Amino acid sequence: MQNDLDIQFMQEAFASAKKAQKLDEVPVGAVVVYEGQIVATGHNQPIKNHDPTAHAEIAALRAAAQVLGNYRLPGCTLYVTLEPCAMCAGAMLHARLARVVYGATDPKTGACGSVINLFAEEKLNHHTAITGGVMADECGQLLRDFFIHRRAQAIHESLITDYSQKH
Ligand SMILES: [Zn+2]
Repeated sequence: MQNDLDIQFMQEAFASAKKAQKLDEVPVGAVVVYEGQIVATGHNQPIKNHDPTAHAEIAALRAAAQVLGNYRLPGCTLYVTLEPCAMCAGAMLHARLARVVYGATDPKTGACGSVINLFAEEKLNHHTAITGGVMADECGQLLRDFFIHRRAQAIHESLITDYSQKH
């Protein structure tokens, strides 16, 4: 169930996604909330860091665990602009998050029901509630705009290369 605070915290995750966008990374952002306060934020940066695990959720979980001084994050809610992948869903289960709230669905790698649903596996999950679709349009549009821009850039660069090879 979505509540009023969900929009407010998703806006903060969205602001983190825009940080990734500025770095030419796929714009996904996350925040971790404990007792009504944001304790950590994270944005996607696998390309810059040469790190396939550098997803927004992992960055936010790592930072929250440091702030709270606990490798488990019971009572915390993680907000992320895109449906988590299997790696991030696994990390969230290890962290024993109380709740995960995501924005846009990810039909390619989503692990909250789009491709698989790790959180629905009772043998794995006794802890984490899921809410999807919060600010889904805005979060999805940010990603679509990013990929449109990147494709346009790639076409532009290939045209320049073609030109310079012919002249
Ligand atoms: Zn992930």
